[in-house]
Amino acid sequence: MAEKPTLYDIAIIGGGPGGMTAGIYSGRGLLKTLVVDKMAFGGAVLLSAKFDNFPGFPGGIDGWELAQKMETQLREHDVDIEIDEIHELKMLDGGPLFELVGEARTYYAKAVILGTGSIPEPLKVPGARDKLGKGVSTCAVCDGAFYREKPVAVVGGVNSAVEEGIYLTKFASKVTIIHRRDEFRAREVLAKEAIEHPKIDILWDSVVTEVLGDEKVAGLKIKNVKTEEISQIDVNGVFVYIGATGNTGYVKVPVEMDKRGYIKAGCLNETNIPGLFAIGDIRWEPYKQAIIACGQGAQASLSADRYIKDIPKDVIAKYQ
Ligand SMILES: Cc1cc2nc3c(=O)[nH]c(=O)nc-3n(C[C@H](O)[C@H](O)[C@H](O)COP(=O)(O)OP(=O)(O)OC[C@H]3O[C@@H](n4cnc5c(N)ncnc54)[C@H](O)[C@@H]3O)c2cc1C
Repeated sequence: MAEKPTLYDIAIIGGGPGGMTAGIYSGRGLLKTLVVDKMAFGGAVLLSAKFDNFPGFPGGIDGWELAQKMETQLREHDVDIEIDEIHELKMLDGGPLFELVGEARTYYAKAVILGTGSIPEPLKVPGARDKLGKGVSTCAVCDGAFYREKPVAVVGGVNSAVEEGIYLTKFASKVTIIHRRDEFRAREVLAKEAIEHPKIDILWDSVVTEVLGDEKVAGLKIKNVKTEEISQIDVNGVFVYIGATGNTGYVKVPVEMDKRGYIKAGCLNETNIPGLFAIGDIRWEPYKQAIIACGQGAQASLSADRYIKDIPKDVIAKYQ
């Protein structure tokens, strides 16, 4: 007979800063805890060159180092840490418990915390899709070093776009930020640094209409949305930060989401499904920051701990 999947008190899907914090709290609370991530632990923190707004690290901290410190702290607790991609989250035999169907294994859980973040919006113009990984990127930290002394462009005007544009000046000969509005939506301090940076040019009121080049990126066709004027710039790389959608494709329970797939959750991180909690970038609020994901991770663990105490014992006994 096939072995029964392990029944966890709390299963946390996603090992970003939110999921790892939830794991630390759940482990420390002596709950039987699973933290599962499809790749490396750290999530989007691994994509950021420097965190200068995470408390406890005056002068800032490198994204990799911050993620590593969190993972080390998580591993100090008695939690099961798995690398596995969850393909389906569903109710177990109709509920109230949950079933997580992973690539490698299936897991059962009394409560689930969703911390799988968001998926970057792709640039939907001719030439963009086929050059993904051949000059089109969504991660300056991963790919920036390929563009030493070469011109690159950044598309977008939010925090991550401006931050990564500044980061790319370390490598690139020139960084052109292309933004569809006439001012950034990034924090004032970042916007000022980018505007004053000698290696950064900004094309305001502009959108990319085509990525040029045969195999690799060779340039961009750009339209000024106010004047309709079309121009062209030569770049070898283009880094895209034009928004994202909630990473919820695997969630097969009727949880409330907005039209971009972000989960609606309350102030204790509860969703409309009892026992299901959501934290960090997967949620519909506008502020996507590591410290917020961590705070919500801590809170969701405490909420889940309180929730599981009320599940009838006979329901649990069937799956133990
Ligand atoms: C370029 C950049 C710079 C940033 N700079 C800053 C900054 O300076 N300060 C700051 O506070 N914030 C910054 N942020 C934002 C911050 O990184 C995010 O807000 C934070 O990482 C969100 O944490 P999270 O736990 O919600 O999810 P994420 O960090 O997105 O982690 C989600 C995790 O879920 C995993 N996952 C996804 N799907 C599955 C699945 N089906 N099964 C299993 N695992 C899955 C992923 O592998 C990932 O590890 C930056 C983000 C970016 C992209």
